[in-house]
Order: sequence, then structure tokens, then C-alpha cells
Amino acid sequence: MSRLSGRGDGSVIGGAVGLRMEPDLLRLLAVGRQIVLVTGTNGKTTTTRLITAALGALGQEVASNAFGANMAAGLASALGRAPDAQFGVLEVDERYLPAMIETTRPRVVTLLNLSRDQMDRAAEIWLVARRWREALGQAQDCHVVANADDPLIAWAAGSARRVTWVAAGQRWHEDSWCCPNCGSHLRRDDLGWRCGECGLARPATRWVLDGDSVVDAGGRVRELSLTLPGRANRSNAVIALAVADLFGVDMDQALPLLREVSSVAGRYTQIERRGRMLRLLLAKNPAGWLEAFDVLAPAPTPVLLAVNAQGPDGKDTSWLWDVDYRVLRGRPVLVAGERRLDLAVRLEADQVEFELVGGVDDAVDRVPPGGLDVIANYTAFQQIRTALGRAQ
Ligand SMILES: [Zn+2]
Repeated sequence: MSRLSGRGDGSVIGGAVGLRMEPDLLRLLAVGRQIVLVTGTNGKTTTTRLITAALGALGQEVASNAFGANMAAGLASALGRAPDAQFGVLEVDERYLPAMIETTRPRVVTLLNLSRDQMDRAAEIWLVARRWREALGQAQDCHVVANADDPLIAWAAGSARRVTWVAAGQRWHEDSWCCPNCGSHLRRDDLGWRCGECGLARPATRWVLDGDSVVDAGGRVRELSLTLPGRANRSNAVIALAVADLFGVDMDQALPLLREVSSVAGRYTQIERRGRMLRLLLAKNPAGWLEAFDVLAPAPTPVLLAVNAQGPDGKDTSWLWDVDYRVLRGRPVLVAGERRLDLAVRLEADQVEFELVGGVDDAVDRVPPGGLDVIANYTAFQQIRTALGRAQ
């Protein structure tokens, strides 16, 4: 009905109706299954997909909310669609993690990163970390896989009984200059980070991302050679390998399966349009934009930036000022979306030359044949996908 009426893709409505009829539905659906919960500010959907791919080595069905419906109704829908799946890999919204831990009793909780998100929608991230820490302290039989390079994550996971620490890297430092434990300044060097006051420090890691290589707990080194681009995805992949290992899936079994993942819910997809090859990148917050810049094709490949400010994007676009756009200098930049003027002001302040365009088709007409990278936030991304889908 949801699909027929054009109101959605049907990934939430079943769970929403089910939870109205049986408020305990999610717990009932999770009982007896091995559940992995995945959360963090960025990379949730991709990491969920990568873990699901890796667990494919077990040869059994894996339930997953692959399209990012990450609140209770989305989780219930995902498990309800796969009643016989023994495994469930579920992306969870950061705010709902404590409730979902209590409800689904996961075997593994995966913590990726925490950084500022849309200010009017997301909770303050230190508060989020505190709630995670409390919830994990009480969930004594769950195993946590966490990024040791993000101090807020390390602090949140520090209350758990069993943690596999992963050196997954952290590019965005703007939300972790201070110690989450005592508020003093954190010191960073080649060995990681530590607080000079209370002694909180980066935990020793079992898995390490080193350039394009992964080093496992036994010291074995493998090239990742993913199809998905960028450092952020290499980080997601190493965390996925660490999770798969807990289920007895060896790195050498999992890696070929991770390499087969080439796009995630439309992201990184290449679409040909009137002689231009478009590549779609989703970026919803400052750390996400930094990751998107990291995978841009070299200049002078043009880039289209599209920003909206509808409900799912956050109404407040002040976060645009937290992104350093100077890396875009020297390449053609096209700007679209409902808030293109907000972005234009920001680019002007960074002395990045740009051209305002009406939308993705207008942008395609203004660039020469060849590549066009597209970075968009949530609803702008969906609009572009729809526009391109119509043309195909
Ligand atoms: Zn401290």
C-alpha cells in the first residue's frame, strides 16, 4: 500500500502497524536470534551492509534494515520480513541505541564515531555518549566492537565488559578536543590520544586500518582493495571484519564479499546522463562532507553540491560553516538545492568560485562530457536520485 500510494518504500509501515498492535513486537521478533546493532554519526548504513555481506560466508539468511530505516519500526519490519533468519544486522539511530539494546538483547554492538549532526534534530553528542555508556554498562552479555581512535566512542564503550577495539582512524577532530571523562584538553600524537589529567587514553587495539591494509589481531596483513571509495569506507570495512570475526568468519573469507559491495542505498552509484558520468555521494553533516571530499575525482572534474533543509535534513544550515570548502578551489563547482544561497554565501567566504544551477539536469548541461561528482544532503540526494531515475 505504501509503495502503491507513492508515500514510501514500505520499509517502515509494516513495523509501525505491527508495533501498534503488539507493543512488544520487536522484542518478540528478536528473541532467539543473534543480533548485531550498528550505530554512529556516519557510516551506519554502509557498515551494516558490509557486516551483512561478510556474514554471508556463514551460508545463512541475514535479516537487515538495508535501506536505513533505523528506528524501532524499521527494525521490526526488517526482522518481520525474514522470520527464519538466525542472524540480524541492524542499523540503529544513535538516540535509540539504549532502548534497542534493552529490547533486542544484541550479541554485538558496533560503535563507529560520534560528531556533530543537524543541530535541531540530533541530541547533543556528549549526552548521547553518556547514555550509551550507561546502557552498555548494564548489557553485560553483549560484545562491543568500537573505534578506539574516536575519544567519545572509546569513553562510551569503556563501560562494556568485552570490547574489541579497532584502530579505524578519525579525520574529524572538532568534537573531541576535550576529554569526555573530565573535560581537560586531550593530547594527540602518533600513538593516539590521551588525557593528561585523568589518564583516559586510547585503548590498545586488536584490529588496525593502515593505509589500504588491514592488520588483524594475529598480525596478519591484507590489502582491502574495496570497490567502495575513500578512507571512511576502509574504516567501515575494518570494523565489519572485526565483527565478522566474532561470528567465526575469517578475514580471508570476508574480504572477497566486502569487495563485491559497490553501492549502498544509491550512494557511490555511477549513472550515465547525456555523456556525463555522475557519481552520487551522500553527506549530511560536517564530518560527512569531509569524507565526501576525500573521494572526489581529481580536479578539474566538476562537482555539484546540493543542500536542502527539510525535516530529515535539519532546518538549520549553520553547520555549513563548520565545513572547510577550500579543498574545492580550482575545480568547477555547481551549487543547487533549496538552500543553495546559504551554501553560496559559505563558498564565497572560503573564496571558492561557483555557479548556481537549477538542479541536476541543469548541472549536466553546464559541464563538459566526462565525470561529474555529486555531493548532496539527505532529501537533496533523494530528489536527485528521483530525477535521474525518471530519465533512465
Ligand atoms: Zn580526562
